[in-house]
Amino acid sequence: MAMFQPEIETMSRDEIRAHQLEKLKWQVKRVYENVPMYRERMNEAGVSPDDIVNLEDLAKLPFTTKQDLRDYYPFDLLAVPKKDIVRIHASSGTTGKQIVSGYTRNDLETWADGFARQLAATGADSKSVVQVSYGYGLFTGGLGAHQGAQKIGAMVIPTSSGNTERQIRFMCDLGTTHLCCTPSYAMYLGETVREMGVKNQLKLKAGIFGAEPWTEDMRAQIEETLGITAYDIYGLTEVMGPGVSYECHMQQGMHICEDMFIPEIIDPDTGEVLPEGSFGELVFTTITKEGQPLIRYRTRDLCTLDYSQCECGRTHVRMKKPAGRTDDMLIIRGVNVFPSQIEEVLLKNSIEVSPNYQILVDRVNNTDTLDINVELSPKFDGDVEKEKKNLEMQLRSTLGIGAKVHLLRPKSIVRSEGKAKRVIDNRNLR
Ligand code: ADP
Ligand code: ZN
Repeated sequence: MAMFQPEIETMSRDEIRAHQLEKLKWQVKRVYENVPMYRERMNEAGVSPDDIVNLEDLAKLPFTTKQDLRDYYPFDLLAVPKKDIVRIHASSGTTGKQIVSGYTRNDLETWADGFARQLAATGADSKSVVQVSYGYGLFTGGLGAHQGAQKIGAMVIPTSSGNTERQIRFMCDLGTTHLCCTPSYAMYLGETVREMGVKNQLKLKAGIFGAEPWTEDMRAQIEETLGITAYDIYGLTEVMGPGVSYECHMQQGMHICEDMFIPEIIDPDTGEVLPEGSFGELVFTTITKEGQPLIRYRTRDLCTLDYSQCECGRTHVRMKKPAGRTDDMLIIRGVNVFPSQIEEVLLKNSIEVSPNYQILVDRVNNTDTLDINVELSPKFDGDVEKEKKNLEMQLRSTLGIGAKVHLLRPKSIVRSEGKAKRVIDNRNLR
């Protein structure tokens, strides 16, 4: 597949490192001079911008956390005068109080480049019809995909999310070739396409799905119901938005735009940088961002980095699909449980159950309870009680604790048009 910026996407490791060092020095100097929080923290840590001599010196710098973005909300982390900010986005607030991010004109261009690299990697070009079914607004999904599609000169259909049947009618009528939305909405769209019986009217070739975790089984289902190749895209508001990293046709991890970001993997407990290939928390330093640059931002996303050569020809490091966030993890009866583990079990049984589910955690008589509501697949014609026992057994062996499964009629769980809300933890309400 074609590349949007081949000269950047195939830079040699030496070129990448040289570029990163130059940009890192520039950025550290800027934040030291313009952002009081960074100046104070660097002074406390006894580091000055002159101490950044090679890339390894990055580890001398203090981390930035989501709490910092809340504490310095809304504008105290800007490295430019407020008049140079041309757009504001806000995180979806999945995990607490909202944070905002300010972009300069150049920041928006850089971001569009990131998304455009993803589009090109899926085979999109100026002849493509790109339907953006991510929500438009403060969420970075809609406008992020929109400006990326504009950058490659595609025809953009800004449907935003929702109004699902109309979305599909547009896809058929306008000949949409590329769909951008959350994977959970792609599942819902696929389900509706099947119900409407219009799969053969679709011109879809590829979909670009991100903003929330999804599994390989979910990918297979989406590819099947929509008749496409499904690509994974990653990003976060704090750092930029979708396009921080993107998948190529090898579908073997997402290439991080290393000309824009320096990634690190750290031990989430000690903050120590881990050796190449380790599993840990992903940290980003934004080396080109002007508006609200972040030094060593802790994403809380857990994954590994793969520096081996990708067969697609791109040289930028690949991150594996995040396995979950440090703060997604539930502690149930003392056992660490990631919602993705539950999803995996359900999706392995997808002939019997549909991937629509909800995880309910509560505390009854001082004991944590774990209940999982999951819809039966419309194709199900077996013994409900037996299927329930089967799922409970598989969950117990995967999670190490028992869960109660409730099998529901198809379509009884409300569908997501944006990021799915899978976990309802009522323990803190008591
Ligand atoms: P919020 O943190 O409020 O949800 P964002 O919309 O900025 O705000 O979400 C960014 C987060 O979404 C990332 O930190 C990551 O946890 C998750 N995410 C984004 N893209 C992906 C992806 N492709 N796979 C898994 N998780 C993703
Ligand atoms: Zn590749």
